[in-house]
Amino acid sequence: MAKPVLIVHGGAWEIPAEQVEACRAGCRRALERGWAALAKGASAVEACEVAILELEDDPVFDAGIGSHLNRDGRVQLDAILMDGRTLKTGAVAAVERLRNPIQTARLVLEHSEHMMLVGPGAEQFAVERGVSLCNPSELVIAREVELWYKRKHESDAGRGRFQPKERLGTVGAVARDAQGNLAAGTSTGGTACKYPGRVGDSPLIGCGCYADNQTGAVSATGQGEEIMKMVLAKAACDRLAGGLEPQAAAEKAVAVLGERTEGLGGLIVVDAQGRVGAAFSTPNMAYALRTADSADPVVRL
Ligand code: ASP
Repeated sequence: MAKPVLIVHGGAWEIPAEQVEACRAGCRRALERGWAALAKGASAVEACEVAILELEDDPVFDAGIGSHLNRDGRVQLDAILMDGRTLKTGAVAAVERLRNPIQTARLVLEHSEHMMLVGPGAEQFAVERGVSLCNPSELVIAREVELWYKRKHESDAGRGRFQPKERLGTVGAVARDAQGNLAAGTSTGGTACKYPGRVGDSPLIGCGCYADNQTGAVSATGQGEEIMKMVLAKAACDRLAGGLEPQAAAEKAVAVLGERTEGLGGLIVVDAQGRVGAAFSTPNMAYALRTADSADPVVRL
C-alpha cells in the first residue's frame, strides 16, 4: 500500500492580514474533507474533487460562489481534474450556471470522450449527467459587485489583469492515494473584469494542472497568461522526471516563470514517491498539506 498525500491551495496573491484566518480555515476544511475521503480508500481523483468542492463553496476564494465578475458583470468559471493513472483529463471553461464546476470536470473526465468542454456545451453535458444548473446570480456576492464597480472605470489595459494585491484565490489540490495513483485539480473564477470568454491557465492541461503517475501531480495558480507561456504545471513535472525533488522542482518552475515572463505564481506538487513541494513568487500562497506520516495537517500562510 502506498502512503496517501494531499495538498490543497487557495491561490497565490497578496493576502491581506484580515483575510488570512479565513483562507487558512478554508484550506484546513478542504484538506480535512479530502483526507477523510482518502482515509476511507477514495481515489486520488475523488480526494481532489471533494477538497475542491469545499474550496469552491467557500466565498473567500475565487472559485465557485464568490468568484470575480467579468467585464459584463458575470461570473465565468473554469475547472480541471486530471487522473495521473490514465492521463485522462476533464475540464470545463467559461461556464456560468454550474455551482461546482469541478463536479462537471470529474464527469467529463469519467464519462466523456473529450478532455474539455466550454460554455453552454459544458452545461448541457452536466445536465445530461444529472447536475442541476444554478441561476448565475447565485454565484455573485456583494464584495465582488463592489470590486466590479471599482475596476469598471479603469482603463482597458488595467482591467482583467492579474493583480496580486487584489483578492484572487484560485483553488487547487494534488493527491496520491493508497494505490499510489496521483491526481490534480484546479478551479477558478479567473481575473477580475476579464474579457468575456477569457480563459486562463487554470483549466488547461499542463498549464494550471498536470498529473502523471510516472512523475508527479501539480496544481498551479498565478498570472494565467504568463503561466500558459511556460506550460507551468507540466514544466514542473518535467523537472521531477529530470531528477529534481518536488520542492526543488516547484522552486525552479516558479523561478523560471519569473525569469522568462516576469509572471508571478505558485505551485503545489506531489511526486510519484509521495514527496511534497510548494513554492510561490507572490507575497503569499494559502495551502495546507497532510501526509500519512504527519498526525496533523500543516497549514501554511
Ligand atoms: N491563474 C488564474 C487565472 O489566470 C488566476 C489565479 O491563479 O489566481 O485565471
